[in-house]
Amino acid sequence: MPELLYPRSPNGAYYDERETWPRDRMQAFQLERIQRQVAHAYQSTLFYRRKLDRAGVRPEYIRTLDDIRRLPFTTKDELLTDQHEAPLYGTVTGVPPELAQRLHFTSGTTGRPVNVLDTGNDFLGFYRSYARGLYGMGVRSDDVVMCAFGYGPWIGYWSGFHAAQDVGCLVIPVGGMSTEQRIDIIEHYGVTVLGCTPSYALHMAETAQKLGRDLSRSRIRITWHTGEAGAAIPSTRARIQEAFGARVCDLPGLTEIAAWGFSCSEESGLDHIHEDYAYPEVLNVDTGERAAPGETGELILTSLFRQALPLLRYRTRDIVRVADRRCSCGRTLFSIEGGVLARLDDMKKIRGVVVYPTQIEEVVRRYAEVAEFQVRIWRKGSLDEVTVLIDLGAAPPGQARQLEERMEHDLRRAVGIRIDVQQVPPNSLPRWDHKARRVRDERTEVPF
Ligand SMILES: [Zn+2]
Repeated sequence: MPELLYPRSPNGAYYDERETWPRDRMQAFQLERIQRQVAHAYQSTLFYRRKLDRAGVRPEYIRTLDDIRRLPFTTKDELLTDQHEAPLYGTVTGVPPELAQRLHFTSGTTGRPVNVLDTGNDFLGFYRSYARGLYGMGVRSDDVVMCAFGYGPWIGYWSGFHAAQDVGCLVIPVGGMSTEQRIDIIEHYGVTVLGCTPSYALHMAETAQKLGRDLSRSRIRITWHTGEAGAAIPSTRARIQEAFGARVCDLPGLTEIAAWGFSCSEESGLDHIHEDYAYPEVLNVDTGERAAPGETGELILTSLFRQALPLLRYRTRDIVRVADRRCSCGRTLFSIEGGVLARLDDMKKIRGVVVYPTQIEEVVRRYAEVAEFQVRIWRKGSLDEVTVLIDLGAAPPGQARQLEERMEHDLRRAVGIRIDVQQVPPNSLPRWDHKARRVRDERTEVPF
């Protein structure tokens, strides 16, 4: 599959030449790949043969890019049901399992995981686009990289590791190490690039501070973040930036599809999408119509290369905004404004108002005093209540109640409802080394 391997960019400004392809060339490429993937999914999986037959669509009906709209969506629930009914890998697997080389699990903070098999080429494609993202952030072969993710079945660790190697960096495996050991390595080996979840970056900075060490004085010049939206939340990004004195980059991804995007070294506020690897559509949540530039919608992705799990029109449940401007880096790739703005699965309805936890995080992270927080949603009588518990990580300063009142005021302005803020004893809230679970919905009957 030679077209899986990107032709390298001749002058080194980009990882490969496809990042700056003219639109018509990109679209012709996408159409050809979609046609081949639909044919593969239809011929090789019972899952898609049934699904497309039910929808009355045959692979040869896909003649233009717009025809992709004739294909039905695929949801994570369908994959879970399929794998439950036909264990282990379901009827959706497009190659005999003995041809696969890797097994990963999705790591969502809710529900059972999906089994994701990859052939050697599938995994190569996954980490190659990840590598393009790292290169776009400014990571180069003379960098010393630490992937501070847990050694486990989450694809984020493995693909980040292989991606940094693909760029030519020296990569230090730290999967099984404590935060303190990792801080030692950062200092001792002159680590210049750090990859981790946003929550872990803040945890690491807090740990360093307690040890009397200052990571902003380390050699780290770039941090990249995946697994959570944090690096795209302005106040969280600013805190990481301050703690490490580094460029903070976003790398959104999805085990089932790809590490599908990245924010580049221009720090323009845009995320670029690897649309030659996973075909993106952004659809209005209410109407299902394609979102215009400047509009938000759910990101739908179609795998253009993966053979073992050939997902068509996969609903990511991520809300994104289509960019209405170009990035100064010169890439022509489809781009979004910011990263993932919200996850449909995280949406909460509180006293009739739709609230996303990322809105609360954006406010709380503006307060440098707050080391960690938790959102508690509960019910008093028949009324929903929201309490944000804040942990200052140290003895509170004199004006503690004033801090709570200021935050309550800011939350009300940003979210549109009354939210109480309460301090808890220092260091009593959990810290997170992977994906954080900061929202506790204690209501027995949750609206929706
Ligand atoms: Zn750019």
